[in-house]
Amino acid sequence: MNKTSAKNRSAKEASNLTSKNVSYTPPVQLNTNVKFEVLPTPVKSASDKKEYKVIRLENGLTACLIADEAPLSDLSEDESDDESIEFEESEEDSEEDSICGMNDEDEDDECKKPPAAEQKMAAAGLCIGVGSFSDPKSVPGMAHFLEHMVFMGSEKFPVENDFDSFISKRGGSDNASTDCEVTTFYFECFEKHFYTALDKFAQFFIAPLMKRSSITREREAIDSEFQMALPSDTYRKEQLLVSFARSDCPVNSFTWGNLITLKENISEEDLYKGVHEFRKRHYSAHRMTLAIQARLPMDVLQSYVLDCFGNVPTNNLPPDDFKQFSDVFATPAFTKMYYVQPSNELTQLELTWALPSLLHKYKSKPHQYVSWLLGDEGKGSLLSYLRKKVWALSMSTGNGESGSEHNSMYALFSVIEMVFSYINMLKELGPQQRIYNEVKTIEDTSFKFSTEETAVDFVEDLCEAMHFYPPEDYITGSELYFEYDSEAIKTVLLSLIPEKMNVVILCNNLPAGLSYDKTEKWFGTKYTEKEIPAEWLEKWKNIKPLAEFSIPPPNPFLTEDFTILEEDENHPDYPEKVLSTELVELWYRKDQKFKLPIAFYYLYLITPVSQESPFTQTMMDFFVNLLQIQLIEEAYPAQVAQLSYAFKTNDKGITLKVSGYNEKLHVLIELITKHLVNFNSSLTEDMFVAVKDKLTKYYYNCLLKPNTLSKDIRLNVLVDSYYTMVDKYNSISSITFENMKQFAQNFVSKLYIKVLVQGNVQKEVAVNVVNNFITTLNCQAIGAESYPKFRVIQIPKGESLCKVESFNRNDCNSIVTNYYQSGPFSIRDSVIIEIILLIIQEPLFDTLRTKEQLGYHVYCSIRETYGILGFTITVNAQATKNSTQYVDSRIEKFIKQASDLLVNMSAKSFEETKRDLIKMKQCTDVHLKEEVNRNWSEIIDDDYIFDRLKQEIKAIEQLKSSEVKKWWEKHSFCGNRNNCRKLSV
Ligand SMILES: [Zn+2]
Repeated sequence: MNKTSAKNRSAKEASNLTSKNVSYTPPVQLNTNVKFEVLPTPVKSASDKKEYKVIRLENGLTACLIADEAPLSDLSEDESDDESIEFEESEEDSEEDSICGMNDEDEDDECKKPPAAEQKMAAAGLCIGVGSFSDPKSVPGMAHFLEHMVFMGSEKFPVENDFDSFISKRGGSDNASTDCEVTTFYFECFEKHFYTALDKFAQFFIAPLMKRSSITREREAIDSEFQMALPSDTYRKEQLLVSFARSDCPVNSFTWGNLITLKENISEEDLYKGVHEFRKRHYSAHRMTLAIQARLPMDVLQSYVLDCFGNVPTNNLPPDDFKQFSDVFATPAFTKMYYVQPSNELTQLELTWALPSLLHKYKSKPHQYVSWLLGDEGKGSLLSYLRKKVWALSMSTGNGESGSEHNSMYALFSVIEMVFSYINMLKELGPQQRIYNEVKTIEDTSFKFSTEETAVDFVEDLCEAMHFYPPEDYITGSELYFEYDSEAIKTVLLSLIPEKMNVVILCNNLPAGLSYDKTEKWFGTKYTEKEIPAEWLEKWKNIKPLAEFSIPPPNPFLTEDFTILEEDENHPDYPEKVLSTELVELWYRKDQKFKLPIAFYYLYLITPVSQESPFTQTMMDFFVNLLQIQLIEEAYPAQVAQLSYAFKTNDKGITLKVSGYNEKLHVLIELITKHLVNFNSSLTEDMFVAVKDKLTKYYYNCLLKPNTLSKDIRLNVLVDSYYTMVDKYNSISSITFENMKQFAQNFVSKLYIKVLVQGNVQKEVAVNVVNNFITTLNCQAIGAESYPKFRVIQIPKGESLCKVESFNRNDCNSIVTNYYQSGPFSIRDSVIIEIILLIIQEPLFDTLRTKEQLGYHVYCSIRETYGILGFTITVNAQATKNSTQYVDSRIEKFIKQASDLLVNMSAKSFEETKRDLIKMKQCTDVHLKEEVNRNWSEIIDDDYIFDRLKQEIKAIEQLKSSEVKKWWEKHSFCGNRNNCRKLSV
């Protein structure tokens, strides 16, 4: 940092950087003497109030600056805070700085400031045009390894965890990802720290250290990441598929990297040299795109970018040329039939066609048009047919890829036959402009009313898109359908032929005569291959379209009225109860903040049956699954028109969430109600059996995941009448078709219903919709005495240990969660725990993950379990490396360390933590949905503290550090093991 004092800065800078009447104080004197050119401005959505500017710096780096028009928070307010942080962290800094910091602090304590404006996060994403395709053939995983190494300190900020620590202390987060042809880094943090964060971030691309000492640790981190990916069937399948590509091309590679590729196969010296060379060759400014967003004036954003990124070195070398690798899947290996052993319990058929790149066709998106039709689930669709035959329960299509789940192997041939029957119909009918226009209208509409993404998600996507589209289309390129191109659609359709198709069948039961005699190199996936018989290919090629097939009719759910309701005066801050009977309570709130033509109808159907037994809980899951299948065909067009619905079983019953453009939502709710009432008349025995099978597999797969299992067990120990997946898995086999029919009838006959309606809806409309719902259901009230209640046990003093062996013996991931129980909920206690967690989270990560490498995921969370507070520390470790006892002992050791940290905490850093927590609570909702979900959780938890955030902020403001210390001592987390209530799972 420079040597100018804070006060001088404000005086000097204010004059030349103030714009739009916003008083703004930049943190430092910026170097903006960097030449740049301005590129065309991207086309944006009509609802997007942000300003955009695209510039290209002298060194070739392209930056998209996004100035958010929303009111600027007062950045000068906490200048002292900035200073004090620099003072604490950079020892070489001049005394002047530290003195300023101290002085400011004194002033700060004296003056009472008004509450800060709502906080919003600032974010930056940087994408480099290089990825795993450029890995040296001898070092798979190099690009990924470099992505990790780059963040391990820079010449200007040499401390290894400096950036992570800075960001996480300021309510932010950072991450990175390595793709085939791009590598992306991104972060978010509070606006007032944005410049400092950006400066630290940019240094990773100017002069990263990538020291020898970091290699060992990050190699372990890469290996942990790979170990976590190992059980995933998606990743296993992907790795298998790329192994069928031409062996000389970059597609056929192992992008993850692990201890074999980064340790066993290469000397440390070569790896060190290699990773530095790779960076010098590829991490060049002219291949970087940057997107930054903050509520700052455009010229300020621009000066930040020029100052921080003007010095990123450039080499002007061309990227690796992959053009020579066309038709990489034109290999004999690719067009076969593969039986693959899944690591989860599932049966899946996947058909894959390799198409040439269609990126240059982004304006017409011919492959997406074809996917749209193949993925249709409405009347006349392929999936609707397969579902009726109970051959498939779900299917996904994307980029010429289609997967379907079916229930028995004999159907395999027929399913593929039906797929070609449908494809052949599309070929016969030819491209349909009416369908294309409907898709275009839907996408146009949703773009027009798109709700704002969080800044960090937005810049992450945008900096990647900047590599693929011209500046005008940075935002719209991947979203919109610009022009109808029937020739391109024909070309895609014609390439979907049986001879060019690869078949992957995931299943545990092989047909007779076959065995898993092959093993994939990296993931160890077991599989076997078979030629597809020529007569099958012939039959599929010539199969006629079935009479049942047709393309979708015009969509009745498309919204035409997008009118926004007028504003009311005296608009209340929180939902109001507008209907209250023994049967129903309706909470209503009209939206006047986001002003979008959308609404949310959330319903909670509460029944005492939910708590009765594992059997009844399983019945609820079963019921919901069947209901969804019954609904799909008729409700699919609604989903296509951007109306959504979702059922979920919950602890007290079933929730139904319906949302989207408000005009036709009531039509969708009526449709759902009709299916709720007529459930039994459309229930078939075949469907019952198929869903039972699917649900059994689902429970089983949940049991295989250590984290689900761990949470399940913790709650099972803590909560009365909480039933686990094991209970459910054991109950499902005994459920009969008759049981199901009986349950469905009983379920809707006696209920208590909680409803929240929020959005662009009149009160009368909301009340009408809810009244109609109740009248159609024709149910009775359950009575207050039958309302489900939950009791949480108090953990005995001392340590309780519950250890469960993972059900998947091949999975070496283990989870250690230490739960520390405190007592009944109060706002004060909950913010105390939050403060403590905020203080310890970074040291926790630094100690257990970075230094001790106990596991990839290390985190702590506050837990409110039916009114009882506590917190957990979780480590996702590998059993092969450390025993769970060892991990537990390290957590305990850390807790002692944390006690010292808390006891010795200075008053100043306590006040800073308080301020940061308050800022987190003040973060503005970017979607109406966030506000709705917050209100909804108050309603379903029976808490109704709609102003919780306000109360919490007040409680934090009043909190003294002595109270936090006292609380920690009282709950005996420090030292005295026998006195705390701890549950280790
Ligand atoms: Zn990684």
